[in-house]
Amino acid sequence: MNIAHYLDHSARVGPTRPALYHGAALHATYAQLQARVQALGGHFVKLGLTPGERVAIYMKNRPAYLDALLATWYAGLVVVPINAKLHWREVDYILEDSGSRLLISDRTPDAELASPAVLLRLDAPGFAADGEPLAEPLHRASRDPAWIFYTSGTTGRPKGAALSHGNLACMANCYLTNVDRVETDHVLAHFAPLSHGSGIYLIPYLMRGCANLVPASAGFDEAEFVDLVNQRAGLAMFLAPTMIRRLVDHLEAEATPLALEHLQAIVYGGGPMYERDLRDALATFGPRLVQIYGQGESPMTISVMDREAHAPYAETAETTADRQALVPVGRPHPQVEVAIQDRQGNPLPAGEEGEICVRGDSVMLGYWNNPAATREALRDGWLRTGDIGRMEVDGTLYLTDRVKDVIISGGTNIYPREVEEVLLQHPAVHEASVVGTPHPEWGEEVVAFVSLHRPLDPAELDRHCLERMARFKRPKRYEVLESLPKNAYGKIVKTALRQRLARPQQESTS
Ligand code: ATP
Repeated sequence: MNIAHYLDHSARVGPTRPALYHGAALHATYAQLQARVQALGGHFVKLGLTPGERVAIYMKNRPAYLDALLATWYAGLVVVPINAKLHWREVDYILEDSGSRLLISDRTPDAELASPAVLLRLDAPGFAADGEPLAEPLHRASRDPAWIFYTSGTTGRPKGAALSHGNLACMANCYLTNVDRVETDHVLAHFAPLSHGSGIYLIPYLMRGCANLVPASAGFDEAEFVDLVNQRAGLAMFLAPTMIRRLVDHLEAEATPLALEHLQAIVYGGGPMYERDLRDALATFGPRLVQIYGQGESPMTISVMDREAHAPYAETAETTADRQALVPVGRPHPQVEVAIQDRQGNPLPAGEEGEICVRGDSVMLGYWNNPAATREALRDGWLRTGDIGRMEVDGTLYLTDRVKDVIISGGTNIYPREVEEVLLQHPAVHEASVVGTPHPEWGEEVVAFVSLHRPLDPAELDRHCLERMARFKRPKRYEVLESLPKNAYGKIVKTALRQRLARPQQESTS
């Protein structure tokens, strides 16, 4: 049950079909991609790597990323994807923790690493795979590890969520049955880092013999997005909600025509989609948005909000029934079980808030090399997501916030996301993020970080909040930043905001 069999299947069915585009140009057909992967897989074997060993990939989005990824699976090895924006020191930690023997990268370390991993640069002048090309993928069982995804560490030291070939097959099944109807002529564009969970969305496309596309800019660039959509029909992609916001603003500012009929789907998730941003996105892109909710430990596979469920948010601001309501994260994938549990693991009734828990074939094997963290996260087969939420009787799931982000002030829980929704309703507010900071009397107090479209007196923002929320929830301070700090996946990094509060103030306004 090696996931690399999907490549062989598609190469057999359609050897001349496009498998990989680099920007607008065709980079490889299925037969060519398969030949490259078989050669590189043979090279790994010649290097002495044996099935189950780890190979780290620390590279920007490039066509060679797919060669590295698929060849690693083909040779029965385990992929350790590393975010290309990490510092070498952080990379070294992941290499050591995962026990990686090989590091495939597009750069060379600037200092000696503690890890003994051997560096392989596929872009080195004259590099050619050595060894006997593999004839077929090496055998792997469904429960053998395939991908160790280090969480982005927005809440602590990264932990490696180990996912099996079976987990990845379950993810592909969820995508094909509940996220999008994939046809052979669809193309998946990788604007988000291939090292992120969304990178493994290449699997369902591989399975269907579709092409993957790596943008020439090696990442997300608004102008390239417009060009690619205008050039090619059937484009689908994963975008973080903050990327969608950037696109909406770009298209509005540049008044650029966009061939919407070429856009097959925009799948988004990985962080909250605020109601205001969703309405704007639907007005710009039409009924092409699909939301997914997942985490590294059950990637992209907890719930899905399909196109139809988005329809109420396409209505104008005046007709949207409840403007305070959070956008739900859809309904659980039928392939997994989702329950809301209390702290002891007891199920809670519909409508009651608790921790979102998930069980099923998508859930990780455990954290690599970390039995204590595994015991904490996996209890009685249930993955405790660390997210607070509730499920309505009709199965609609709401994600209120992360347990670790909840602010407790005067003994009362305040959900930052609720406050962020209200801040974003002010027309001058561009981005908003709310965190707690220690307070001698209340335990914690609420601080709002915003970036603005135009200058705004914090007193006006405060009035706006007072008119829309209980006094205890309203921010006690407003900090205005040029833009909010985000990680490589476009997620606002709350730890960086909290660290800012611990330092002497600079560009702040309160
Ligand atoms: P760490 O686990 O180290 O804190 P992280 O939070 O960035 O890092 P990821 O696995 O990248 O870990 O992110 C998963 C989290 O992102 C989820 O648990 C959830 O809180 C949030 N998330 C994912 N999808 C959505 C969504 N559609 N809406 C709201 N939040 C989401």
